[in-house]
Amino acid sequence: MGCNTMAKDILVVENLKKYFPTKKKGLYVKAVDGISFTVREGETLGLVGESGSGKSTTAYNVIGMYGVTAGKIYFKGVDISGDAGKRPLSLKKDLQMVFQDPGTSLNPQRTIGQILALPLKVHKIPGEGERLEDRLIQLLETVELPPEYIYKYPRSIGGGERQMVAIARALATNPSFVVLDEPTSALDVSVQAKIINMLIRLQKQFNLSYLFITHDLSLMRNLATRVAIMYLGKIAEIAPAVDFFRSPKHPYTQMLLSSIPVISGAEEEMKPKKVPSRGEIPSPVNVPPGCGFHPRCPMARQICLEVDPIMVETIPDHFVRCHLFAGAAEAREVVGA
Ligand code: SF4
Repeated sequence: MGCNTMAKDILVVENLKKYFPTKKKGLYVKAVDGISFTVREGETLGLVGESGSGKSTTAYNVIGMYGVTAGKIYFKGVDISGDAGKRPLSLKKDLQMVFQDPGTSLNPQRTIGQILALPLKVHKIPGEGERLEDRLIQLLETVELPPEYIYKYPRSIGGGERQMVAIARALATNPSFVVLDEPTSALDVSVQAKIINMLIRLQKQFNLSYLFITHDLSLMRNLATRVAIMYLGKIAEIAPAVDFFRSPKHPYTQMLLSSIPVISGAEEEMKPKKVPSRGEIPSPVNVPPGCGFHPRCPMARQICLEVDPIMVETIPDHFVRCHLFAGAAEAREVVGA
């Protein structure tokens, strides 16, 4: 999980913190409070959490929309945690984002051709001898839209198609890394599967790495390579998806997994025993002392009320932040997590 530990890490986040000041002097919303994770080349890391968990703030930090309060973000080995405005154009080109709501992320005054042309012009694509229109048509083909959509406006096409345009815009600069911020949650159920399948195809076609932000844990079952679950600005558990769904360790993960619907007998068998869901996620302004999950945790002990647990590796590549695992013989402390 540390910096530069694996050659195939494309993104490394180290002890990232993002605090927002409140109206009350000295009081902060600790939206992200010391998280560390990596995204490896060609994989999908699912970053899952309830509203207020800090997952979207993390995405905005990675993309550079927010500056960090503390910690480091490295992209392809380059420190990008400083002022986002100072990121070199080549890095911006390589790291793109698809937002949740294409209705607001696409300029309604511009045609789809103009929307797609903007990043191409900024990054001087295509080069000499290539026609801009050819590249626009190619981009539309990539997301299965016909060439005549160049002349349409976002309002004249459906929500799913708007999201396809947003995906095409993200791919316009040939990035290697895309942050997907709840890319299907604003869409009708009927088009969600189509967008997901498209994202899977595009990942293989262009060898993309995804940081996939979502509140929908079940969506990650067949999509994510690894899953990280956030609670109150911290990562509670991170593991390969197979292991995460088959053998969830953190009580919060178990609580969530025991309540999501499954579609097969095999998945039903894998589900953890029903863990009672207690209360709501507290405000990140008033984070409980000790383990932030303790007011909702059926396994809480005295130490949980007083001491914030550290992240430990329980088995290779499966990390948990919980006192129940802190003493495990095989557990290894993760520095900086
Ligand atoms: Fe529950 Fe304690 Fe583990 Fe927190 S540290 S999840 S309160 S058992």
